[in-house]
Amino acid sequence: METKQFKAESKRILDMMIHSIYTHHEIFLRELISNASDAIDKIYYKALTDEALTFDKDSYYIKVAADKENRTLKIIDTGIGMTKEEMENNLGTIAKSGSLAFKSENELKDGYDIIGQFGVGFYSAFMVADTVTVISKALGSNEAYKWESEGADGYTIAPCEKDSVGTEIILTIKENTEDENYDEFLEEYRLKSIIKKYSDFIRYPIKMDVTSRKLKEGSENEYEDVLEEQVINSMVPIWRKNKQELTQEDYDNFYAEKRYGFDKPLKSIHISVDGAVRYNAILYIPEKIPFDYYSQEYEKGLELYSSGVLIMNKCADLLPDYFSFVKGMVDSEDLSLNISREMLQHDRQLKLIAKNINKKIKSELQSLLKNERDQYVEFYNSFGRQLKFGVYSDFGTHKEELQDLLMFYSSKEKKLVTLDEYVSRMPEEQKYIYYAVGDTNERIEKLPQTELVADKGYEILYFTDDIDEFAIKMIMSYKEKEFKSVSSGDLGIEADESGKETAAEEAENKDLFEAMKEALGDKVKAIRVSKRLKSHPVCLTADGEVSIEMEKVLNAMPN
Ligand code: ADP
Ligand code: MG
Repeated sequence: METKQFKAESKRILDMMIHSIYTHHEIFLRELISNASDAIDKIYYKALTDEALTFDKDSYYIKVAADKENRTLKIIDTGIGMTKEEMENNLGTIAKSGSLAFKSENELKDGYDIIGQFGVGFYSAFMVADTVTVISKALGSNEAYKWESEGADGYTIAPCEKDSVGTEIILTIKENTEDENYDEFLEEYRLKSIIKKYSDFIRYPIKMDVTSRKLKEGSENEYEDVLEEQVINSMVPIWRKNKQELTQEDYDNFYAEKRYGFDKPLKSIHISVDGAVRYNAILYIPEKIPFDYYSQEYEKGLELYSSGVLIMNKCADLLPDYFSFVKGMVDSEDLSLNISREMLQHDRQLKLIAKNINKKIKSELQSLLKNERDQYVEFYNSFGRQLKFGVYSDFGTHKEELQDLLMFYSSKEKKLVTLDEYVSRMPEEQKYIYYAVGDTNERIEKLPQTELVADKGYEILYFTDDIDEFAIKMIMSYKEKEFKSVSSGDLGIEADESGKETAAEEAENKDLFEAMKEALGDKVKAIRVSKRLKSHPVCLTADGEVSIEMEKVLNAMPN
């Protein structure tokens, strides 16, 4: 048996791999299972074109088996296996991906389920193992080979015995050190949870022998531990299923299973796109504000899968801030991943998907508003504030996208209305969209400033949220109607009042006004006769861009 040397560069790369590419050791299992799944996929694709080959889905599986005593962890598959040459080429050369070659050799346009492409994942095994042994028998071959390596020093290949086609990877798990725990990779519960986390949607069953407490046979109260083979992964991801096959309950279950929230989602959105970029997504609009939503701990983002394998828990780039409440996941075959598959190259595909998703969420909210108003109002009460922040932020760049989703309380309807509804009800001579700012609807109702506008029969929108007026200032006008605060100096209504009369009253009260100005000093700019008051003796109005209420908010803000 001859020991071959890794090339010098390979040694360095291997070292780098083991120590720096992956942040989490547990990733090794994801990589080895992905390889096993690829190997089974290869038989599947071969069978599509090779008449002599049939693919009976039930006889293909992946098995994970831990042996604590011997500190070994096996990952066994019934996939295509490797010949001696393939072992040399694919396991002996770092960064050489047999899977990538397979995809191009077989011109697999739809072979996008095959996960491998970088030719480095296999080596992640050395993060947790002192020795890695690979026993494999290739499809169509009578010989089996054993590849073995202790890491950077090289590897050996020798013939060996193996009955069936496929591959067995045997890891001799490292001993615990002061800083690192490796024992956990021999623990049943831990392995199960890693498989669930990263490989739940691998299309082939991932089996494990799991201990469970069972009633002893013939006994009524004596239990025993029995080892039972279980399939750990759920295999068919819900997002790959046909929408017609799924019920609301399925979506609700997925929401709970994924712990996106503890409530029931208000709305679920299932997207399957087969265009310039292919992806599936399941998104949720939660019913309730997550408890940490307005805290610093809250992280927006969607789970990101690449061909059914989890890549990222919270991909923030997929959601704009104003939709930060949306939960869910995206799976795409078209992402260009970086080498550790923990991150994405910030690329075009991701931007396309994000844009697409953004549009979809918006149209879904619009249809909710149109068809299920009560639900929309419920949603708006929870997350409307976020939408208004969205309008206000980034200098109003998203206002066009969001303004149709906004709602405000109406003086006339006594409930939340949209801007569109307001404008469509405006009498022809009404120039502005009127609003009034205050702490509560009740207080606004009592404001003297609302009298003239209300008396005219015009509707007034009540702004009770700090952000409201700021957001509106960004929108500026809606359907060519400008917004006007009822406390602004010029209401666009006084014009039809007699100017003469005002001037006469102004002159009549000159002394009084002067005395008032003197008493108030710089607190007011001027004191005038007003036509807007009905039952109140006096009111404050603002002249500039910044209303009295905005000024209050601005003053309250920390500098
Ligand atoms: P990648 O999966 O990105 O191609 P890996 O380092 O994970 O890179 O694997 C390298 C290559 O080794 C694979 O492309 C494949 O050809 C081969 N290989 C690894 N594991 C298996 C396996 N279980 N069965 C068959 N071939 C395998
Ligand atoms: Mg791989």
